[in-house]
Amino acid sequence: MDVEQFRKAGYQAIDRICDYYYSLQEKSVVSKVEPGYLRGQIPLTPPEEGEDFQVIADDYQKLIAPGLTHWQHPSFFAYFPTSCTFEGILGDLYASSMACNPGFNWSCSPACTELEAIVMDWAADLLGLSDAFKNSSGVGGGVIQTTASDSALVTVVAARSLYLSRHPDTKMEDLVIYVTTQTHSLGAKAALVLGLRLRSIDVTQEDSYSLRVATVGTTSTGAVDNLPEIREVVKDYPSLWVHIDSAWAGSALACPENRDKLYLNEINAFAYSFCSNFHKWGLVNFDCSTLWVRDRKHLTDALDITPPFLRTKHGDAGTVIDYRNWHLGLGRRFRSLKLWFVLRGYGVSGFQSYIRQCIAMNGVFAKLVEKSDILEFVTKPSLALSVFRVVPKLESEKQQALSQESLNELNRLFYGRISARDDIMLTQTSLNGIFCVRLAVGASRTTEKHMHDAYSVIEKEAKAAIEVWDQTVNGVALIG
Ligand SMILES: *Cc1c(COP(=O)(O)O)cnc(C)c1O
Repeated sequence: MDVEQFRKAGYQAIDRICDYYYSLQEKSVVSKVEPGYLRGQIPLTPPEEGEDFQVIADDYQKLIAPGLTHWQHPSFFAYFPTSCTFEGILGDLYASSMACNPGFNWSCSPACTELEAIVMDWAADLLGLSDAFKNSSGVGGGVIQTTASDSALVTVVAARSLYLSRHPDTKMEDLVIYVTTQTHSLGAKAALVLGLRLRSIDVTQEDSYSLRVATVGTTSTGAVDNLPEIREVVKDYPSLWVHIDSAWAGSALACPENRDKLYLNEINAFAYSFCSNFHKWGLVNFDCSTLWVRDRKHLTDALDITPPFLRTKHGDAGTVIDYRNWHLGLGRRFRSLKLWFVLRGYGVSGFQSYIRQCIAMNGVFAKLVEKSDILEFVTKPSLALSVFRVVPKLESEKQQALSQESLNELNRLFYGRISARDDIMLTQTSLNGIFCVRLAVGASRTTEKHMHDAYSVIEKEAKAAIEVWDQTVNGVALIG
């Protein structure tokens, strides 16, 4: 492809992306292709001769598009949202057009490092993080990682190295990562990768050899770990490294009204590290996991490996950031560009409006659930997330006689019906043995109408599930 062919194909690509967004609402949310659908449609070996790009672009529409689930669809309520904004798309487009992507050293392409250092400070400001976490402090600092899992892994490596440097006689087997049962699996993964022990127990029972991952906004229910309590414990165990995983809820810190309930003061007072994913609820296209540490030396002491061919005048003088020592890989993408585009395009107030809009839409849904006879919350709605289940309306002694298992059976039937539909997508979860369903709002095109439509679908399927359950699962009909 030469430059002019690229120009033409590029215009067409943008046109097609625009058409996609115009028609998004009319599409079904969920892709219904069967496993292996693509084999048989695509040759098993690469073509011997290069192909015309028009054919390739048309094949994308014909073969790939049907296998896509539309995460930006206004009726997508599954998992957590993943952002996709036009500003973000353009940021990635520019970034991918340059060969400076592996910005591992400042000198690879100075703009890559300098912009990241600045926009990470912008992002810290947006979320209300203390100046101690900013790159401008010269001590703490922020870095963009691929995912929250990488952020946690890097953090645990740094925590381990810090503890071992202060307590050189410690055996590796004695180091423990503490999590709660609601911590994302990233805690378990870090333990697995690093060969550390993992304990899912109450922090007050711990010994002093510990790392800790606390969550602000858990994946299942949006719960917020009790940071004031953890703060009390930390007082007696200064070597406890507290990492705050706020992959989803962190974006909500942009709105001052959410800061108390998300314990921003505590985060600022004692967290060693804090992570929020802008690629989740933060309007920036995947990947953009922002990690801040109170002391960058903890990262670089643990991760700095500088073979002769990577040494530079500025790096040696310590006058610049070499981000390769802040993460696991060497090469890294120029991700700050899209974060910069988004923060400028939206501004603080635009970012806040988007977050408030999502929370308000969840509020619309929550009001309908509160009024319902057959749906109830399993936990209080958190920000833009609701966790609920179906409970049939019965006479009170019959209601009391219902076993958890029978209710779970009903809710599995209900969720089975919801997930057989392609016009809406939700996910299931289990909380201490209670099977429940999650609804998370995050698409910027979701309006009140979509929430009412979602509620109607949910109520209809709940009624249908109750009917089937009443006749089959229970054996005896409880209703009527
Ligand atoms: C989504 C999520 C993660 C995982 O994020 P990745 O960036 O995919 O690793 C971790 N923790 C919480 C609380 C999450 O919501």
